[in-house]
Amino acid sequence: MNDALHIVCPHCQTTNRVRSEQLASAPDCGHCHRPLFEAHSVALDEAAFDKHVARNQIPVLVDFWAPWCGPCLQMAPGFEQAAARLEPHVRLAKVDTEAVPALARRFDIRSIPTLALFRGGREVARQAGAMGASDIVRWVQAKSAVAGT
Ligand code: ZN
Repeated sequence: MNDALHIVCPHCQTTNRVRSEQLASAPDCGHCHRPLFEAHSVALDEAAFDKHVARNQIPVLVDFWAPWCGPCLQMAPGFEQAAARLEPHVRLAKVDTEAVPALARRFDIRSIPTLALFRGGREVARQAGAMGASDIVRWVQAKSAVAGT
């Protein structure tokens, strides 16, 4: 059956089974009972990154950034606006490359900000450089053929 999706909770990292028709009606986590989608990106360390990328059955868009990077900070509000528009069809996440250098090394991140789109545990697209909310949404939809918005 293909009528349920695995969604990793952004708060407790538990994998939830969410029926497709419930996805858009603000589902809560079965473990911690907090909302699975809050129109916000989720900050990931290495362990959380692996769970979200491997287990989510929706695409995961990751912003590789750093606190000292001006363009990254400029893009941050637009990234949150994109989260509000792309959820619950896409999970938006942020990786602080200074706090989690192992992930920056693993994915060979050469410049920041870099956006990388993951689907089914694999990276399917990458784009370096800051983008506004509308460009982020368009890019993700073009790369993942996401319905809606
Ligand atoms: Zn939870």
